[in-house]
Amino acid sequence: MDMNDYCIVGAGPGGLQMGYFMKQNGWNYKMFEKESTPDNEDLLFTKYSNDYFPHADSMLTYLNDYAMMNDLNIMYNTEIEKVSYDKMNDKCRFKLQIMGAMKQCCKTLVMASGMSQLKHLNISGNEHLDSYDKMSTNPKDYEGKSVLIIGKGNSAFEIASSIYGVTNYVHLVSRNRLRMSWETHYTGDLRGVSNEVLDAYQLKSLDTVLEADASKFTVTKGADGMLHVTSSEGNLTTRDSSPMRQGYDKVIECVGFQWDDSVFEGGHPSTMYPEHTYPVIKTDFESEQYPGLYFAGNLAHSLDYRKSSGGFIHGFRYTAKALSKILARKNEDKSWPSMDYKMDKLTNHLLTRASESSAIYQMYGYLCDVAVLDKDSNMFKYYEEFPIKNLKDFAYYAKMDKTEEMKPSIVLCKDYGRNFSGPGMDVFGPSRSVTSPDEAANSKYLHPWIYLFNNVPKCLKEATYVHHVLEDSTYTFDGPMSHVKPFEMVLDKFLSGVKLHMMKSEL
Ligand SMILES: Cc1cc2nc3c(=O)[nH]c(=O)nc-3n(C[C@H](O)[C@H](O)[C@H](O)COP(=O)(O)OP(=O)(O)OC[C@H]3O[C@@H](n4cnc5c(N)ncnc54)[C@H](O)[C@@H]3O)c2cc1C
Repeated sequence: MDMNDYCIVGAGPGGLQMGYFMKQNGWNYKMFEKESTPDNEDLLFTKYSNDYFPHADSMLTYLNDYAMMNDLNIMYNTEIEKVSYDKMNDKCRFKLQIMGAMKQCCKTLVMASGMSQLKHLNISGNEHLDSYDKMSTNPKDYEGKSVLIIGKGNSAFEIASSIYGVTNYVHLVSRNRLRMSWETHYTGDLRGVSNEVLDAYQLKSLDTVLEADASKFTVTKGADGMLHVTSSEGNLTTRDSSPMRQGYDKVIECVGFQWDDSVFEGGHPSTMYPEHTYPVIKTDFESEQYPGLYFAGNLAHSLDYRKSSGGFIHGFRYTAKALSKILARKNEDKSWPSMDYKMDKLTNHLLTRASESSAIYQMYGYLCDVAVLDKDSNMFKYYEEFPIKNLKDFAYYAKMDKTEEMKPSIVLCKDYGRNFSGPGMDVFGPSRSVTSPDEAANSKYLHPWIYLFNNVPKCLKEATYVHHVLEDSTYTFDGPMSHVKPFEMVLDKFLSGVKLHMMKSEL
């Protein structure tokens, strides 16, 4: 049996990122990908597409090139069929079945196998439904047809946008009101790229968005050849003015994706949150039941679900990096990397990071930077991109002794203002943005939140003070009066021991 310290299942964007960091660290790793081999070029994504929303094929070409150019250790055409766990065998805790035999084992296993299963509705008449993966993508098949799409996420609207121009009408139905990503500031909610059909709904009628719980539906094929939808709940399908009363030529279910835990004997024990979607994991990405089993890519999104960008490529590239640093500490006894700077660089360093770090920008509310101040040497130590949820173990990851834990510290992260993001919020209202530094604490758009601590941080709520840097749509926090001076004043007071006043509720 082959043995590696680390194995990664899946060479999608999440697995590739993990493989990249493992290779950089010089670890003994191997990746497994059930699909076939890639081909090759030069790795800036701008070389692949000039589009703001590039075609999905550009991403695939990019990923293939990324794997080739970084020379990652990937076994293509190799499906991991089963994983077994042996807690008594430290070096070979996980055994992986390939083509019917246990051929590989490892101490640490990273599952980056993605959300590979389509969810399906368990309703009477579901044999009449088309599904996202099997439906025809030829608009001609929808000409003059009445179509019901069950689901109101990006995939549902992607389908609606591609056919609504030729249909009789398209209806989209789901339990909850629409969640526009520009209102919720969550990438997983409906993006602008697929929402033309909403224009048609509001300006032309016929195409419509409806609310009902589809798990209560029954679909029957009538003598008229149409699919008729009834519900055991509410009157949407029964009232004589129901938009659904004429039935549909096609009903397409598009109710999301979930991870496939069937590689684990009996499934992964603590799985499927929320709504059977993600494995439940600890804040260090590790499974509770199987020490040594970690999750990467969009499988780790339960940690920031509906909050940040960890379910998406632009977000989990940074959580994969954080996971590699967590593994470095737990398995290789390496502390979280840090750099030392002179204290007179503190303001500039923090505001430059606030302006330039893409990690704390993309993973807002999830990743932070930590500065630990040493007044005796007049220096500070700077730790980048640390998961906020793991601050309770910061001293462990930074390998600090008890004396170091007593040092004053600063945490820099980004977030939206409170009570600004959510379905139906008025994000275009006249009071949406704050322009006066005196009002910076009321900033609404993504802006730096700087937390001050008397000791090394354990959780954000224990900060003695939080300073909001005034929001700025250019994301450059270098305005001498708007950004720099107010922060300098707070920092001067903090460093000279003057008590800063704030309400606990402001934290
Ligand atoms: C319509 C649609 C639009 C999307 N748009 C976006 C978007 O705009 N931005 C975005 O960030 N995300 C988007 N996503 C989600 C996107 O697919 C994921 O963000 C991304 O692919 C997740 O990466 P991953 O590496 O975690 O998993 P995946 O990309 O799913 O990769 C998992 C890999 O594991 C392999 N694998 C699985 N099981 C095994 C096994 N047992 N053995 C060996 N190999 C295995 C699979 O073959 C696959 O290559 C979209 C998804 C859909 C369906």
